[in-house]
Amino acid sequence: MLILVTNDDGVYSPGLALLASSLSSIGQVVVVAPDRERSAIGHALTLHSPLRAELIKPDTYAVDGTPTDCVNLGIHGLFEARPDLVVSGINRGANMGEDVTYSGTVSAAMEAMLMGVPSFAVSLDLLSGERSDYAAAGRVAKDLAATILRHGLPDDTFLNVNVPAGTPKGIRMTRQGKRRYEEMIVEKVDPRGRKYYWIGGGQCQFEPIPGSDFLALSDGFVSVTPLHLDLTNHHSFDSLRQWRTTSDAAFFYTENK
Ligand code: MN
Repeated sequence: MLILVTNDDGVYSPGLALLASSLSSIGQVVVVAPDRERSAIGHALTLHSPLRAELIKPDTYAVDGTPTDCVNLGIHGLFEARPDLVVSGINRGANMGEDVTYSGTVSAAMEAMLMGVPSFAVSLDLLSGERSDYAAAGRVAKDLAATILRHGLPDDTFLNVNVPAGTPKGIRMTRQGKRRYEEMIVEKVDPRGRKYYWIGGGQCQFEPIPGSDFLALSDGFVSVTPLHLDLTNHHSFDSLRQWRTTSDAAFFYTENK
């Protein structure tokens, strides 16, 4: 089994090394990861400049691109064999709720799914103040990888895995939760008297939605959320159909059945 490992914290991050060594007992691991931190780069793909992949040690490539670029090179460019599994992480910090749309870690797994390779993202919570243990997250990733290699994943599905700080009490299947955003921007003045802004100053708050990723972690459980890429809000069709456009034509939609 060939397992492609990537991340968005960069090729030298401790979570990546731990993930690669955890998975090495169940398959041949190859690492293709960004040459520097690319957290919150989302699903960005490099189209307007060339990419270099430098072999920095055996089976480990550093790419001057995004996590999505790395998955592209790892599946289509660098190796003769197609990977059987792509695992992204172990991210430094949880990726839950709407944050999955910013996350390079989650986007790498998403890219693999789009290319038809089973995948999951794994992130470790650092916010609870407890000591976070990458080894526990590595054990979770290894178990899950072995299970996916045995059973596969449903169509159009990849998994977003979040591991709590401390020793996990168990594993819960969850739904994507909702964050509460507040006080996100810090405004300061630079030494020359000009204002600057820094995004990300707020506390991480979440809605207490039953069955959500946030609740699983706050209860001390590993959260496993099956994700897909259809962002259509099917519930909105009924109310949007009531609209009239300026040309007085009503919206309509057709369900293909
Ligand atoms: Mn990251």
